[in-house]
Amino acid sequence: MPPRKPIYEGKAKQLFEGPEPGTLIQHFKDDATAFNNQKKGTISGKGVLNNRISEYLMMQLAAIGVPTHFVRRLNMREQLVREVEIIPLEVVVRNVAAGSLATRLGLDEGHVLPRSIIEYYYKNDKLHDPWVSEEHITAFGWANPQDLDDIVNLTIRINDFLSGLFLGANIRLVDFKVEFGRLWENDMLRIVVADEISPDSCRLWDMKTNEKLDKDRFRRDLGGLIEAYTEVAKRLGIMAEGEPPQGRGPVLVQ
Ligand code: C5P
Repeated sequence: MPPRKPIYEGKAKQLFEGPEPGTLIQHFKDDATAFNNQKKGTISGKGVLNNRISEYLMMQLAAIGVPTHFVRRLNMREQLVREVEIIPLEVVVRNVAAGSLATRLGLDEGHVLPRSIIEYYYKNDKLHDPWVSEEHITAFGWANPQDLDDIVNLTIRINDFLSGLFLGANIRLVDFKVEFGRLWENDMLRIVVADEISPDSCRLWDMKTNEKLDKDRFRRDLGGLIEAYTEVAKRLGIMAEGEPPQGRGPVLVQ
């Protein structure tokens, strides 16, 4: 196979030039980072699981009419996606207090929020992805009011749909992060879901026991990350019951 042109390398994924103009190959690595790169590790098999889980969730979203960048999975670690202009925001939806919200507002983890809350973070590693408001977003031109309107409407639909989908798998969708991109189709500009949706970008708790089935297992040194992601894949019906976990466990490099 001829060498592929790398386009971008992130913490857990890499993008290569795609086979046709307007496409990219999204490669899922086994690398994990947390706390803005202060904690790093490699967890064998994580990329394979995230590729499968994100494929599944993006396809389910497309089935209810939420547009995404996903085209098709290519192999164990890669998927073909449409090239989009990424909007530099991490859109976080919270249903239950956890993580930075619990810390910031002094809430107990697990406190059910009075309603779902949408937050925006400006994607900028040097600034540690600061929390921003709609005012900042429109004033600095990261997105215009029409884009934001589309983003909010899509985000609410995604949260309702994914909450129900995970509920059917006995999993509570505590919170998640989603990214959006601009896609030109003929003369029409559309806002579509980009990046990934996986246990790396969601908090997923077992409905009955509140066991964490997401990246907090890495962030908080709980161990068993591959087993947890495999459990999510099995409950969603992506992996057959009885299939063994795919990794050898975490290898911390720092
Ligand atoms: O850390 P925090 O509580 O703000 O995270 C909220 C949600 O957003 C979590 O599900 C987390 O996995 C996700 N997130 C992410 N990428 C980031 C920051 C948060 O996927 N850079």
